[in-house]
Amino acid sequence: MVKKVDIAIVGAGVGGTALYYALSKYVQNISLLLIDKRSEIANGNSRASNNSQTLHAGEIETNYGYEHALKLRAGSLALRQYCMGLPNREQVISSMPKMVLAVGDKEIDQLEQRYQKFREGFPRLQWFEWKDIREIEPQVAHKNGNRRPDNIAAMGYSESYSAVDYGLLAKSFVQQSQELCAKNSVKGDIWLDAKLIDVQKNSEGYTLSIMKNDVTEKVHCKFLVMASGAYSLHTAHKLGLATEYSLLSAGGNFYFSSLALRGKVYTIQEDGLPFAAVHGDADITQGRRTRFGPTLLPIPKMERYVKGGYRDYWDSIQLKSKFPLTLLALLKNPIIRRYACYDMPLIGKQLFVKQVQKIIPDARPKHLVFAKGFGGSRPLLINHDEGKLIFGETKIKTPLAVFNIAPATGASTCLSVAMNDLQYITQALDLSYDDEAIQLA
Ligand SMILES: Cc1cc2nc3c(=O)[nH]c(=O)nc-3n(C[C@H](O)[C@H](O)[C@H](O)COP(=O)(O)OP(=O)(O)OC[C@H]3O[C@@H](n4cnc5c(N)ncnc54)[C@H](O)[C@@H]3O)c2cc1C
Repeated sequence: MVKKVDIAIVGAGVGGTALYYALSKYVQNISLLLIDKRSEIANGNSRASNNSQTLHAGEIETNYGYEHALKLRAGSLALRQYCMGLPNREQVISSMPKMVLAVGDKEIDQLEQRYQKFREGFPRLQWFEWKDIREIEPQVAHKNGNRRPDNIAAMGYSESYSAVDYGLLAKSFVQQSQELCAKNSVKGDIWLDAKLIDVQKNSEGYTLSIMKNDVTEKVHCKFLVMASGAYSLHTAHKLGLATEYSLLSAGGNFYFSSLALRGKVYTIQEDGLPFAAVHGDADITQGRRTRFGPTLLPIPKMERYVKGGYRDYWDSIQLKSKFPLTLLALLKNPIIRRYACYDMPLIGKQLFVKQVQKIIPDARPKHLVFAKGFGGSRPLLINHDEGKLIFGETKIKTPLAVFNIAPATGASTCLSVAMNDLQYITQALDLSYDDEAIQLA
């Protein structure tokens, strides 16, 4: 028998669960199905150990320009507001210092210009001189017990709700939805240990084949949302979509440090790097133990910590295109090459510590321990026709489906991405929704 639903969402990370929550809150009288192949909600990139737990707002991430940062700020404020209303908010969101550090006069000039521009849109943003940094992050200000020899300045906040356990957040979306479904006459179903194995398009939507408890279940949905990272692209390819893209799975690892930070210290972005340059973060699920990273480990598979996936990866790239040349060109970038070396046995830690010393000058290899089992994998896209790496949000839309591969600032914008998808879906299915959703989009 075929189960019929209005909207099926594949992937129960922050992306899929945020959309499930938004639909159950703002739309009435619909049926939803959320599935994930894992046995727990948010056990992929959204799991707290697999990302840096930062609530990005765009001001301290120096790879974002002002206009873009304002958009991210709106998305991260919406998420913060949501988190603050949760009964277990202390576990989900944490307040701590957050800053981007400039080292040397050139970086300080660059950062000061950014501060002058950004303070209008970010009124609470503070400028920190050495003495302020000494108060907030003493390890950053000193070397061998004295003032560090290089000039430093920073911009950020001495306290800010800037760390989120995205795994718990995803679980909260699901919990909140239960009541909302009952209130809004939404028929909501969640299947775990349920793997999408095939999709067929037809005139009224999509028919999904889902492996659940060793049995293949058939589901028909009017609208399909793929919120399954690298597998969103894989499924799009199966349907003959987005064929100009190849996948680059970029694993990111971390090192724990015995030299502690109180909060989050980012460094000025390095050109050509498709994610934030090395930063230090107090891990909110590990007693605020400091974690540095990420590194860059290209992997020939779809996801971390999942057996197999090599064949699927192979299907997601096109060797006959400009993909190999683009990869080679990326590897010619000395910054990318350096990041890729941080995972090498023996020398990786020696090289990585130099990056950490920019933040904590006293750091030595003996202070760092490879964080085994921590770190996820970013599904980056290469346009293999044009030979270009795609930066920012990657999403494919068709009249009755959305394929979310990587959100713009990762998990931080999950609610605003969900609100935008909600508008798209309701328009496609001719449904009405609560107006509050527009303000949050
Ligand atoms: C090293 C690193 C650091 C990061 N740091 C940050 C940060 O500090 N702040 C931030 O905002 N973002 C950060 N990100 C990005 C962030 O983690 C991701 O953007 C976000 O978690 C993606 O959520 P998602 O729901 O799209 O994907 P995921 O959380 O990966 O969820 C996808 C789900 O799809 C499921 N799935 C896949 N295929 C199938 C199938 N066939 N059938 C059923 N289910 C399937 C998987 O099991 C998985 O649960 C970081 C990422 C990395 C790699």
